[in-house]
Amino acid sequence: MLPDRPRIDSVKIRDFVGIQMALIVQKYGGTSVGTVERIQAVVKRVIRTVKAGNSVVMVVSAMGKSTDGLVKLANEISENPSRREMDMLLATGEQVSMALVSMALQEAGQPAISLTGAQVGIITEANHTRARILNIETARLKKHLNEGKVIVVAGFQGVSNTEDLEITTLGRGGSDTSAVALAAALKADFCEIYTDVPGILTTDPRLVPEAQLMDEITSDEMLELASLGAKVLHPRAVEIAKNYGIPLVVRSSWTDEPGTWVKSPVPQPRSIEGLELARPVDGVEYDTDQAKIALLRVPDRPGVAARLFSDIATNQLDVDLIIQSIHEGNSNDISFTVTKDSLGRAELVASAILPALGASDDSTVLIETDIAKVSISGAGMIGRPGVAAQMFSALAEAGVNIQMISTSEVKVSCVVDAALCDVALATLRKQFDLENTPSSFAKQRSTSSDQPVRGVALDLKQARLAIRHVPDRPGMAARIFSLLADNNISVDMIIQSQRCRNINEIMTRDIAFTVAQMDAMEAQSILEAVQGDMMFGEVVVNESIAKVSIVGSGMINHPGTAAKMFNALFQQGINIQMIATSEIKVSCVVADKDAIVALKAVHEAFELSGSTRIQVAT
Ligand code: ASP
Ligand code: MG
Repeated sequence: MLPDRPRIDSVKIRDFVGIQMALIVQKYGGTSVGTVERIQAVVKRVIRTVKAGNSVVMVVSAMGKSTDGLVKLANEISENPSRREMDMLLATGEQVSMALVSMALQEAGQPAISLTGAQVGIITEANHTRARILNIETARLKKHLNEGKVIVVAGFQGVSNTEDLEITTLGRGGSDTSAVALAAALKADFCEIYTDVPGILTTDPRLVPEAQLMDEITSDEMLELASLGAKVLHPRAVEIAKNYGIPLVVRSSWTDEPGTWVKSPVPQPRSIEGLELARPVDGVEYDTDQAKIALLRVPDRPGVAARLFSDIATNQLDVDLIIQSIHEGNSNDISFTVTKDSLGRAELVASAILPALGASDDSTVLIETDIAKVSISGAGMIGRPGVAAQMFSALAEAGVNIQMISTSEVKVSCVVDAALCDVALATLRKQFDLENTPSSFAKQRSTSSDQPVRGVALDLKQARLAIRHVPDRPGMAARIFSLLADNNISVDMIIQSQRCRNINEIMTRDIAFTVAQMDAMEAQSILEAVQGDMMFGEVVVNESIAKVSIVGSGMINHPGTAAKMFNALFQQGINIQMIATSEIKVSCVVADKDAIVALKAVHEAFELSGSTRIQVAT
């Protein structure tokens, strides 16, 4: 059981520290310990924290860019060095900084001791260069804390759970993960991440100089913003903070500004064993109170989605999933779901708007009420290509056909026949080892936040693939995405279109998805190799795309959030190629030439821009 932890609502951490003794984990990144002067500045802050009555465990990164330097040295010797030796080499970086920081503390009169990951007992899998933490022993840490010492732990490293006690590292940027894991194991009051930026910003300040600092963000939002925030905070660290309910703050080590709090709701108590679970999925969610509306064959041009969802929002109808797959010819299909009780009104709005959209005679509105949405969620799916495929395969084996698919960074949602909802949930719980965890209703994460959107992310590194005319039967998506996963290709956004086309007596749908640009050609040839066998049509690649996303838990309570985004794009004459959503995220694929204009327009539309310029290193 985790003890009750003081609630940290205030962004003024020093006030908190001033009145109450706490156990704090402070992590300092490479630049924060990059020189002797900086180490001395860091030490002053630590001593101040101790003098205020707190116990401190520090976690340090390697000095400056020294890890990069070590990687470079290794590559001068071998193009493909053994991963074990890489760990031996890279783990030395943190050992340099931990010893120097501990010496500096002692020099300033503060009792301190440095410890490697192995000395602490940070036990990991034996998977070199990307080990996950399994457990952390706390006995030695507690002993030194009781002696009044500041402990300086080497970040990024651990020791394998095998007989050979191999030194392991957690993957680049892993010190954040070490810090939050230590905070969880020690049941620390909170974890501070000190870095060279003042906190988490509403978007990338190098692209949008008006980006502003956020006071706070939820861990769910932070995870959905992974492509924006990953450089500031390792997603695995956010996952641990969420699972163990550790309050986390990202602050500048140069100032006393409060930084950005990453908040998590109080979690289910969980043991420290299996800390970074091998389990990629944390929860299974459902929503049976949904109905689907699809507009088929509407024109593919800027403003269509904006117009449609503005009208929907004006009528106070709350839209959940929105999906627009790639166009066919010069028309698009846009599908969305609303709560069942608003279906009638939503259908009226959709039908009324068709002529105004410049739709042709064969445009239609289609509705379906007997549907359910089932989703899997979990930070563990970031960087694990097979998770979506596993979901599709499990559903296929259970005979559940997938009508719609929409994915976000940490979630995959499928629309299925309502009658099969229970079967689907049971299957997914079994597949992902969640048999003891009940499925939860999808919209619980709604917050009272009056701000619908917290941040806007841009991803320029994706390419889009589309597979035409995939036979509409269980197992097709499963096979396609398993094939890609087996070849280690991570798929980002997956969208299955609504339109069913009859090709040679077979009902088919298109499936579009995005992958990293460097994987696009390989993905195409892998799929083309099975084209005849799986009886789908052409595989089309487009590398000139960008993905713009808005993220915020507040959008659950704010009808019209998606419409506002679509409108901002329309104002700039930008065509939306694909749309996918989760409860707290809307992503649009646009042409890459429009990317920066799109990002700026969307950021501005949600009034996230400010006049203060935040300085960040490039
Ligand atoms: N020094 C390691 C790296 O550069 C770990 C870290 O700094 O978080 O990736
Ligand atoms: Mg870092």
